[in-house]
Amino acid sequence: MMYKTDALLLKGTDLGESDRLATLLTADRGKISASFKGVRKAGARLSAAAQPFCFAEYVLAEKGGRYTVTQAALHDGFYALRTDLTRFYAACAVTEVCDRLAYEGLPCGPLLVAAAEALGALEGDTGEHAKGVLVRFLLAALAFAGYPVRAAECAVCGEKIAGRRYFDFGRGAFTCTSCAEGVPASESTYLSLRAALRGEAGSADGDLRALRLLKAYFAACTEAELPALGEFLKL
Ligand SMILES: [Zn+2]
Repeated sequence: MMYKTDALLLKGTDLGESDRLATLLTADRGKISASFKGVRKAGARLSAAAQPFCFAEYVLAEKGGRYTVTQAALHDGFYALRTDLTRFYAACAVTEVCDRLAYEGLPCGPLLVAAAEALGALEGDTGEHAKGVLVRFLLAALAFAGYPVRAAECAVCGEKIAGRRYFDFGRGAFTCTSCAEGVPASESTYLSLRAALRGEAGSADGDLRALRLLKAYFAACTEAELPALGEFLKL
């Protein structure tokens, strides 16, 4: 059976002398494993499409639940993302989040779109806005996974938030000084998340703090850590 699909290559492991086993994120079948035969030989036809971050239309041969890539037409290789550490780790954080949230058989259209948009935004940037791109991507990914974040009125009493604020991991939302449920959160964190939810840019400091909060929230919701995001935050 042939299966043709747009997919983002999340990661790959070298197998045997010249093969590679890759994890692909597809819209309709979710995360699948596919092998590239002979792709590490010099001049191999599919080598460009077998790299992490590649977004391509792949043609796969399916046999007994196993996939082998037979053709690929690149939409974008996102090569610039390998040229500096900031954008490289930011891109790794994007593919890592997809890898944690996607499953085989779970349709992942919105996650695939958000990931391709984030990689495109990172490629078109010098790395300066990478934090903001990651904040917006994480919010989209968490919403896709059923853990949306809200940054509006207090999640308990509904009053406008002024003064000290708290982030409640159980609700994925902020609470006010009087209700004080959750962990203390800075005003810049709140403002950056609020801006990102509207698709706007936040402050550099706020985006950094928002990413730390989202990393902890992601771990609380999914019980999965994000080491590449951790490396990015250390830069
Ligand atoms: Zn309140």
